[in-house]
Amino acid sequence: MAAAQETVLQIDLNAMAHNYRFIRSLLKPETKLLAVVKAFGYGSDAAEVAKFLEELGADYLAVAYTNEGVALRNAGIETPILVLHPQPINFKEIIDRCLEPSLYSPRILRAFAKVAKDQNQKNYPVHIKFNTGLNRLGFWENDVDFIVEVLKPAPELKVKSIFSHLAASEDENEREFTLGQISNFKKIASEIKSKLGYEMMMHQLNSSGVLNYPEAQFDMVRCGISLYGYGNDPKFNKELKPVASLRSVISQIHMIEPNETVGYNRAYVSKGYEKTATIPIGHADGISRNFGNEKGFVIINNQKASIIGNVCMDMIMVNISGIDCKEGDEVIIFDKDHTAEDAANLIGTISYELLTMVSQRVKRTFL
Ligand code: PLP
Repeated sequence: MAAAQETVLQIDLNAMAHNYRFIRSLLKPETKLLAVVKAFGYGSDAAEVAKFLEELGADYLAVAYTNEGVALRNAGIETPILVLHPQPINFKEIIDRCLEPSLYSPRILRAFAKVAKDQNQKNYPVHIKFNTGLNRLGFWENDVDFIVEVLKPAPELKVKSIFSHLAASEDENEREFTLGQISNFKKIASEIKSKLGYEMMMHQLNSSGVLNYPEAQFDMVRCGISLYGYGNDPKFNKELKPVASLRSVISQIHMIEPNETVGYNRAYVSKGYEKTATIPIGHADGISRNFGNEKGFVIINNQKASIIGNVCMDMIMVNISGIDCKEGDEVIIFDKDHTAEDAANLIGTISYELLTMVSQRVKRTFL
C-alpha cells in the first residue's frame, strides 16, 4: 500500500467484503441484510460503498435523510432504499426517486398517505416504525388501531415492513430490557399483521443485535458499524476488519528551544529542546479539538507522537522528539491497528462519531 502524500481517508473495500461475508455467516439463509449507509456511508463515501454493497448482494440500503437517498439514486444505485427519518417536505421527492419512507408517527403517516394518494400511487412501499423503548422515533403500541384505520382504506400504500430499534443491544447488563423490547415488538407485529390482513417483513436488530440476539433476526437485520469493521465488542471486533484509515503526511518539521510555545493560545510549552511536526489535518477535517493538548496521538513510522497545543482548523502539531522521521513521511491518525475505536476512547467518544466526523474535503481513496 503506497504511503499517503496528503490527507486521505483510505477505504479498504476488501475489508468491507470480509465484514459483509462475516455478518452473512451469522444470519439464517432466509434473513435479508440491510446495509446502513447513512452519514456518507459512516464517513466512507456512501455512493462508492453502496455500489460495492449492491454488488456484494445487500438486499436493502438505509439512509437517515431523503437527500442521502437522492444522492444514491443519482449515483445509479437501484437497490431498495429505506429513508429512516424523512419529513413531509420530502414526500413528493421520495416517491419521484423510488425511495421508501419510514413512517413513524400519526402526523407522518397521514401526510405521506395524502401525498401518495395525490400522486395516484398504488401499493407504495412504506415501513412502519415502532418505539419499543429507545424513546426516540416511532409509533407507540397503542397507535396500532389508528395505523390500521388509516391504512385499511388506503390502496395507495402497502406496508413492506414494520421495524423497531434496540436501545442497548451491545450491553449484556441490559439483556432483560432488550428481551422486553424484542417480545414487545413481536406482539405489535402480530397484531398489525392480523389487523391489516397481510404479511410484511419485520426487523429490529442492528450490528450488536446480530451478535447478541440471534433469535431475533426475523426477516431482515440492519447493519451499519459492523460493515465498517467495528463491533462494539471485543469478540465481534476480532472477526471484523476496520475499513477506513485516516492518513496524512508531515508538512514541516521545527526544532524548538525550552519554554517555547506551540500553536494558538500558546497552549503547549516545550519542556526542553524538542522537535515538532506540522500535519495538514485539523478540526475542519474531523480532528476534534478534544484531541489537542496531548489527549490524542498519531502514529509516525510505528511510533506514537502526541498532539501538542490546540488543534487548528487545518493543522495539528505533534511532538516527534526522539522519533526517526522526515518531512513527507506518512502520518496515521487511525487505521486497522490504531483503530478509530482506540482513538475515540481517548476523548470519551465512539467509533461512529470519529468515522462520521471526517469531513467532505478529505479525499477518499479506495483499495
Ligand atoms: N437501524 C437504525 C434505525 C439506526 O439508526 C442505525 C444506526 O444508528 C442502525 C440500524 C445501524 O446500527 P449499527 O451501526 O449499530 O449497526
